[in-house]
Amino acid sequence: MLAGVAGAAALALPRPAQAQAKARGDYGFAPVQVAPGVWLIEGARQSLSPANGGAIANIALLETPQGAIVIDTGSTARMGAEIRAFADQRLGGVVTTLITHHHPDHWFGNAAFADAPLLSLGATALAARANAQGYSDALYALLGSWMSGTTPVPPAPRIETGRQVIAGRGLRLLPLCGHTQADLAILDEATGTLIAGDLLFLDRAPSLPDADLTLWQASLAQLGALSPAGTIPGHGPYHRSLAALTQTRACLAANDARLAQAAALGLSPAEAMAAGPVPEFARLGANPEEYHRSVSQRWSSYEDRALRKIRAA
Ligand SMILES: [Zn+2]
Repeated sequence: MLAGVAGAAALALPRPAQAQAKARGDYGFAPVQVAPGVWLIEGARQSLSPANGGAIANIALLETPQGAIVIDTGSTARMGAEIRAFADQRLGGVVTTLITHHHPDHWFGNAAFADAPLLSLGATALAARANAQGYSDALYALLGSWMSGTTPVPPAPRIETGRQVIAGRGLRLLPLCGHTQADLAILDEATGTLIAGDLLFLDRAPSLPDADLTLWQASLAQLGALSPAGTIPGHGPYHRSLAALTQTRACLAANDARLAQAAALGLSPAEAMAAGPVPEFARLGANPEEYHRSVSQRWSSYEDRALRKIRAA
């Protein structure tokens, strides 16, 4: 009984601590070790907002004898600084930072890591550089004072893919695509943990502004073939199963079918939006916002396809 009460109290602690941290204007991260030497700072399963300070993407840190391999750095300078402080204080510093893709919730904390290599796929570095100013303007508008002091530092040198040993830790660096034109997934050999970036989402709606659904599904097939022991999605919880893979695959297919059907029925974008996401996925974090974004950003391609069919008929 006593142990149960103590356990419940321990479980309850992080939430008030995080609320107090938010009130102070910092994040109050409580990194969790999900597998030996694999640490996760889990983002809120939400869209970017002042309430979450932009801390929506997952950050993974892999321990090595020389310090941490940091995977993604968050949305703001302060977020980067808090991740860096954890790496310095608990993991012996930073060996290198890997950026999974060019969306800003994954690399706008980079300034705190600029004294060590900041690596990504080549196309990610180019897209980050090309979009830096636009993303910065958008994040300042969305997050306000949380962004103070944030200057985009795009990842620079291109990463070598395939099997790499970084500071003694064996990794498989997989150059994939589909969520964006370049998505880096990382398999940690020691634990079998797959750090998938935004190729995987769990209990949070996938975001699709740069997606190619055919390529994305092909990348999911490749990730499944790795048979990972656990997965860290870009957004959502760690799981010792393929739940993130199964859910992402189903969610992408359902969203695709819904928009194709809406266009074939001759609905307007406003009507398609009002219809809402597929009921099975309506309760995912960041829905219906992500569904609405997918209609507004992707409608024309579905309409083109539907009109081609009508013309051909
Ligand atoms: Zn993301």
